[in-house]
Amino acid sequence: MLNLWKQLLLWHGQHNLVAAQAMQDNMARLPWVLGVVQLLLAAGIYLAWGVNASTSPAEAHFSNLIGWVDVALMLGLLVVLVWLLWCQRSACMSVWRQGLPVFLAVVFVSFGITLSIASQWVLPSATMYVISCVFVGTLLLIRPSIMLVIFGVSYAVFFWLLGQTAQTGTVLILLRFHGGMAAALGLTLSLVLWRRHTVTELLRRQVQAQNTTLALQKTQLEALSQRDSLTGLLNRRAFTDQAHTVLSRTLRDGLPLAAVMFDLDHFKQVNDEHGHPAGDAVIQFMAQVIASSVRDSDLAARVGGEEFMLLLPATGAQAAQGVAEKIRRQVAQAAVAAGTAKPLNITVSAGVAAWEPGQMSGFEDLYAAADRALYAAKHAGRNQVVCADASEIILKIGL
Ligand code: GH3
Ligand code: MG
Ligand code: MG
Repeated sequence: MLNLWKQLLLWHGQHNLVAAQAMQDNMARLPWVLGVVQLLLAAGIYLAWGVNASTSPAEAHFSNLIGWVDVALMLGLLVVLVWLLWCQRSACMSVWRQGLPVFLAVVFVSFGITLSIASQWVLPSATMYVISCVFVGTLLLIRPSIMLVIFGVSYAVFFWLLGQTAQTGTVLILLRFHGGMAAALGLTLSLVLWRRHTVTELLRRQVQAQNTTLALQKTQLEALSQRDSLTGLLNRRAFTDQAHTVLSRTLRDGLPLAAVMFDLDHFKQVNDEHGHPAGDAVIQFMAQVIASSVRDSDLAARVGGEEFMLLLPATGAQAAQGVAEKIRRQVAQAAVAAGTAKPLNITVSAGVAAWEPGQMSGFEDLYAAADRALYAAKHAGRNQVVCADASEIILKIGL
């Protein structure tokens, strides 16, 4: 008993979660449902008025009544259909829309009860009530607690009206039995469909949430795989990949392009004298100086242990030298807090290579030229910037 109560509470919570989606599904299918009902009612009107098959005044009255009920319902539902289509185009009173499926369910079972009760004077049957129960249970997504009330009350009304109109005791018992089966069938159908809708909707959301998480993790992993873990700058692979894109864009736009390569001077000594953690702190400091000195459109990477590279689109040789010189000076003037007893003084050498529009070849050539310029800077005594010009004549500048 306790388990059943727990299960019902769980279902209730789940149903609250999917109620809004069920409403949307109802709104999507209602125009079709109403369209089909219009056709069925048109057929009913034709049978009632178009086919003259009455053999007695009672049958003629019955046909007449059915015809008018069909016409009234057809017109009423036509108004609802037009209003619904208008609602879908413009924001309209949502309270009325929320209540529409329940309203239609009540209308349909009332229609079924009316026709079944009217048939007592001609051919006693519960067929229309049965059809309306199956129709409502299958086509409208309404939560089970409300359906229980709709089918329960409708059966009570059907039961009572039959008592007033059934012509024999046998017919009364039989039709009450048929009506009870119809209400139970409608309720079961609606319960099964609602549960299926709930489970499907909750699964869909779970899959959607997992997909979103996966997409986010993929983006984060991709971003991480492009970064050097010590400095946060681009790693060599990501730098090379992106460099080719930058190169072809710069080439297409007819702009100059420059590369700067940095290598910390006598860095091995830093490690040997102060330990690797101090060396790491120096590398991080160098990365910060670089990152704060370049534009968003520039590429900055750590391409080796204590080697860094910049790719500066739309930048000529002179401007690139200026950037490299600024960074070199900043490093030389800083006292780096590296967890050592005294802050460290370090220096860096740089090689610059630049292409003017029209001179460009592959990125590897620019990289090699910057590397050669860096080598020249080391040979010339370190702590300086050397620029390789287009014809590879190495030009020493600054100290
Ligand atoms: P030079 O002025 O000629 O560049 O001399 P150098 O000592 O800087 O040159 P070398 O290439 O011989 O030394 C680079 C050193 O960088 C060697 C290696 O131990 C150190 N190194 C490479 N990667 C890391 C790292 O991630 N952390 C630390 N702390 N040291 C690193
Ligand atoms: Mg080196
Ligand atoms: Mg070095």
